[in-house]
Amino acid sequence: DGPLLEIDGLATRFFTREGTVRAVDGVSLSVPRGATVCVVGESGCGKSVTARSVLGLVDEPGRIVGGRILWRPGDGDPVDLAALDPNSERMRRIRGGEISMVFQEPMASLSPMHTVGSQLVEAIRLHLPLGRAEAHDRAVDLLRRVGIPRPEERMDAYSFQLSGGMCQRVMIAIALACDPALLIADEPTTALDVTTQARIIDLLRDLQAQSGMSMLFITHDLGVVAEIADEVVVMYLGTVVERGGVDEIFHDPKHPYTRALLGSVPRMGAGSRQRLTTIRGTVPHPSDRPAGCPFHPRCDAAVAGVCDRSDPPDVPVGPGRTARCVLYDEAAVPASGVV
Ligand code: SF4
Ligand code: MG
Repeated sequence: DGPLLEIDGLATRFFTREGTVRAVDGVSLSVPRGATVCVVGESGCGKSVTARSVLGLVDEPGRIVGGRILWRPGDGDPVDLAALDPNSERMRRIRGGEISMVFQEPMASLSPMHTVGSQLVEAIRLHLPLGRAEAHDRAVDLLRRVGIPRPEERMDAYSFQLSGGMCQRVMIAIALACDPALLIADEPTTALDVTTQARIIDLLRDLQAQSGMSMLFITHDLGVVAEIADEVVVMYLGTVVERGGVDEIFHDPKHPYTRALLGSVPRMGAGSRQRLTTIRGTVPHPSDRPAGCPFHPRCDAAVAGVCDRSDPPDVPVGPGRTARCVLYDEAAVPASGVV
């Protein structure tokens, strides 16, 4: 049976003139049916590239170089999306049909040249065998479902006539056009004001509860994670450093990076924009990754001679939980703490 989406050892690299950037470096995570999995981390940690890898949307000069992305929409054998040609007919059918994506900049994602309605109708007809009139009715219904008032009138609106929040609702309507089994949302509320952000999060939660779709939700905002996640995947410099259920991660974080992230949030659930700026030092560029544990230059718990030399193992730290840290590896750090 297996989870709806299972990413196993994904590696995505960018081959630039300055060198190879290991943007995603052996990421494994899975999205169970009907669940919301949040991928959280600072900018540049590879969370967006992970999401884009799923849909074959990695920009040049990037390429998936390893791992599998197993997609199991039904009972049959899984499809390995990492092995599909991004331009193949199969990937086109999956993208927007079975798996949809919502991005950070709703204004930029909508065409200013066409009405909201025509873009929605086009998205519907791309994947569903509906005539104009039926597609129109479905479009109006989708606008209503995403909480747009007077949806019939809004069909004729252009994106520049709508607020950022309304544009994001339209993008969500387009993403839902074909009842996807998985919605990937990459920082969908980051460009919006705090009130609008909360409304969009509520909307996504409601839509998910109604439809039973799964969500892979990318964010740097722990307040959003607390609101929406069932499971959390914490990324740092292209790797998953910790994962687990949302309550466990918030109440008993294991990895020093997760602890630092949570320590940098003054109040949970306060509804304000949370910033992750108080961790000592800065994130190195992915092309300049430190040897050993990538977090060691910023880690207060780093073990000299160990953390700066060898890759920490991914250690089980509870049911459904792992942390990539030598502190939990009994073989590496004896009880005495002396290596
Ligand atoms: Fe810190 Fe070492 Fe754990 Fe990395 S492996 S998080 S440096 S203690
Ligand atoms: Mg991003």
